[in-house]
Parts: sequence; C-alpha cells; structure tokens
Amino acid sequence: MSDRPGSGADALWAAGSPGLGAPEGTEWETVIGLEVHAELLTRTKLFSSSPNAFGGEPNTHIDPVCLGLPGTLPVLNRHAVELAVRVGLALGAEVRPSIFARKNYFYPDMPKDYQISQYDRPINVGGRLELPSGKVVRIERAHLEEDTGKTTHMGGAGRIDGAAYSLVDYNRAGVPLLEIVSRPDMRSAAEAREFVAELRATLVAVGASDGKMEEGSLRVDANVSVRPAGVSRLGTRCEIKNVNSLRSLGRALEHEARRQIELLTSGEAVAQQTRHWDEDEGRTTALRSKEEATDYRYFPEPDLVPLAPEGAWVEQIRAELPLLPRQRRRRLADATDEAPARVSLIVERGQDDLALEAVEAGAPAAAVLKHLEQNLAGGTGALTAAGLAELLAMEESAELTSNQVKDVLADMARTGQAPAAVARRLGFEAVGAGELAVLVDRMIAEHPEEWRRLCSGEGRERKKMQGFFTGQVMRATKGQADGRRVAALLAERAGS
Ligand code: ADP
Ligand code: MG
Repeated sequence: MSDRPGSGADALWAAGSPGLGAPEGTEWETVIGLEVHAELLTRTKLFSSSPNAFGGEPNTHIDPVCLGLPGTLPVLNRHAVELAVRVGLALGAEVRPSIFARKNYFYPDMPKDYQISQYDRPINVGGRLELPSGKVVRIERAHLEEDTGKTTHMGGAGRIDGAAYSLVDYNRAGVPLLEIVSRPDMRSAAEAREFVAELRATLVAVGASDGKMEEGSLRVDANVSVRPAGVSRLGTRCEIKNVNSLRSLGRALEHEARRQIELLTSGEAVAQQTRHWDEDEGRTTALRSKEEATDYRYFPEPDLVPLAPEGAWVEQIRAELPLLPRQRRRRLADATDEAPARVSLIVERGQDDLALEAVEAGAPAAAVLKHLEQNLAGGTGALTAAGLAELLAMEESAELTSNQVKDVLADMARTGQAPAAVARRLGFEAVGAGELAVLVDRMIAEHPEEWRRLCSGEGRERKKMQGFFTGQVMRATKGQADGRRVAALLAERAGS
C-alpha cells in the first residue's frame, strides 16, 4: 500500500473533506477492495442432500432443511470444507478452527430468515494473490456460507419498488459459497479485473469453482473509494452490486470512481452506500445505505458444532494441490524465455502442458508458443505434443509453407493424425530444394527484362520484381513453394 502516514497531504484531506471541496488540481487515487462469492463445486448443498446444480425448474432442488422447515437440522458437507481449505491453502491463508453463525435478515429468499455464515471466526484467515503483472493483493479472509434463494420481482422494472408481486425460487438456497474478501489493495479498475481473473483461474485450478460469472457461480461485490494522491487515510466507500462480468466490473468501477471524484470536487460528501450497477444505463444507483454488522444480529449457530479441520487432513489437502496458475506461468516462462503476456495467455488457455511437452520433444519454444497463440485459439483438440514438434520440424526445413502449416495444424487438432500423413492427404507435396532451384532459373530465363529490372532496381522497384518472380514460382507450384526459399534463391542469383 502507498500509505505515507503523517504527510502534509493527510492534513489537506482532513481539511478538504468531506463537504469543503478538494483543492483545485487535486490528483485522485482510486482504492478498491473486492468481496467475491464463489459457489463451490459440490454434488449437494452445504447442509443438506438436495443437488447443487445450476438451473432446473424452480423449486425442484429443495429439501426440508434448505426450506427451513421446523424440526430440521443442518449437517455440514465435508467436501465443501475440503474445497474451502484448498482455496485457503492456494491463497496462502491460515486454515483455522472456525464457527458458523446466524446472519439474520428479513428477506424472503432465505426461508429460515437467517443465513448460516461465518463471522468472527472464519475458516481461512489472511493470504495473498499475486497477479500476472506482479502486483500482490492481500486477502483478508475466505469464509464458508450458504447461498440464498432467488427472488424475481414481477412488474415494476424488475425492482422491488413498484413490483406487483414476487416469485421465490429456492433451488439456490443452501448452495455452498466461499466468500473471499480482499484488502483494499487495488488502485484501478484494470487491477480489479486482473485480480478477479486470477482468482477465478485459481479457484478453477483447485477444482473449487466452475468460475462462470454469467451463471452467477462467481459473483463480485466491489468496494470503491477515492482519496487525494498521497493521503494514507481511506475515503468513504460505496459497495457496488450486480456486476456480472469482468467487463461490467471495469465499467462500474470507472463510473463509480468518477462519480465520487465529482462529488468531492464540487464540495459534497460521499455517502457510504450499497449501489446497484445498471449495465444498460452505464451507471450506479443507490440501493440502500450500508448495513452495519449489528443490523444482522450475528450469533453462533447453535445447531452446528465448531469446525476444526484436523492438521493431518489439511496437510494431505496441501500435498494434493495442483500447480496454481502463477506456478504454471513461472514454469512455462522458465522453459521458453517468452514474453509474459504470451505465457499468461497460453496458461490461461490451459495449453501449457502441451507446449512444455513439445519443447521437451525438441521443438523451438518460440514457434510452439506462436502457433498455440495464433493458430490454436479455438483449442488444441486432438493435437499431440509429438505431432506438433514433428510439424514444426517440417516447417523449419521448409517442407511446408507457413500457410500449409496452418492448414495441417487445424487438421491435426481435428483428426489427431501425424503431420506427414495430413500433408499428404491435403496434397501438400513439398517442393524439393533442387526442383525449386531449377524452377527459379527457368523463370529467370523466361523473363529476361524483369530479371534485368530486379538486378538493377532499388527499393520499391526491386521489391516489385521480387514479387513478380515469387508469383511466377508460386503459380507454377500451385502455391506449394516456400516463399522464404524462393526469396533466398532470387537473392543468391542476383548476387546480393
Ligand atoms: P464490511 O464490514 O462492510 O463487510 P469490510 O471491512 O469487511 O467491511 O470490508 C469489505 C470490503 O471492502 C473489503 O474487500 C475491503 O477491502 C473493502 N474496503 C473497506 N474499506 C474500503 C475503502 N475505504 N475503500 C475501498 N474498499 C474498502
Ligand atoms: Mg464484509
């Protein structure tokens, strides 16, 4: 954090805010902290046996426990705890004994009128997430809780105000959630997007979440405040709900920061609020003034015992963790020396194992990553590392032109066949080196005037004539000659 306590800027901010207007020319810093809710990939709900599955006819994934019927008791899902521990360990958090609490509120989407959550004793405490850019965002906590049902307001533009009636679907009620809370360490919308993308990749890597923001299995609440650059004290924040994609997250944060800066610049104060992002309007609107913890009347859940994962179990989970995106990026970067952006992309697409294997098989790293990035964006399909390495050897020795390589690659991804067989089937007979030299000499003999212009020409004229001869050779070979070899032969014959 850029805390510089005791600076003169602090005094200015104290004098200038709220309500007195910020001095002319103030530079503003945006401060962002995120609360990410991830639905855990369990078979059943957090405290009962109905399925944890997206969609379905309303009120079909339900049972007496998640409906809060009298006389029912929650039973904790062990797999949900394991997934929470996996995420905690992946984030470098401390896995602690925890207790569940009742978070009371008065909405119809939780039939019990409370949500079972963790409050002052969460399962995962602390941790950090290192982003591809190198930025480190600290994690406050990651705790377990149950999801709520879904209310749909009918009429009145889908908001509760002015609605004629509301429908409630309890399919989602009781689905296990992990709420991951970051420290207010991000300084721009772009950083917040990067954080969510990296967190999502981490959750997917450890098998905790499917990461689908569009299905609501990953939901982000974004807290944002602004302050004059150089000030250490945090400004008053707003929490933005209803951001359903990385793109909305970026737009919502940029809009909200601008709104707050305009308020402060014109001498008004920012009110601490929960605000709703309207994707179509491109703005946030006030939803409610912020609740305080006391509003929820938290108290320990009397129907569940404290949760204390055994040390040996936690260590076993740690030992079985897969490589995390950060570790995979480092592994690929070390093996290839390629640019970070390209390395990140390949890891993001899950093509890094194939890339490493192909390099191991002797393929040049730069060519492997280039082809994966540019020609296999849609996935590698049936392509094998050995096949890719063989194909790149054929490209290297100019048995195939770069256009032919692309076609062969697409075919290999579809059929899984070896490159030589595919090239033969596609009719890509390589033009041999001797054959090509004879052809180039024939073209020179047949076009003496053009050859004279090539040899005596400079710059543009020379380029044009090179194009002419390359075109002739290509026509004679039906496009199967390697352009680089033709250029080399022409240069050699012209004595340059
Ligand atoms: P609450 O009690 O309202 O849940 P927390 O202290 O738990 O508040 O913080 C919730 C989220 O808001 C965290 O991600 C935190 O980083 C972020 N946050 C807190 N204060 C600020 C602030 N002034 N500006 C931006 N984000 C903030
Ligand atoms: Mg909180």
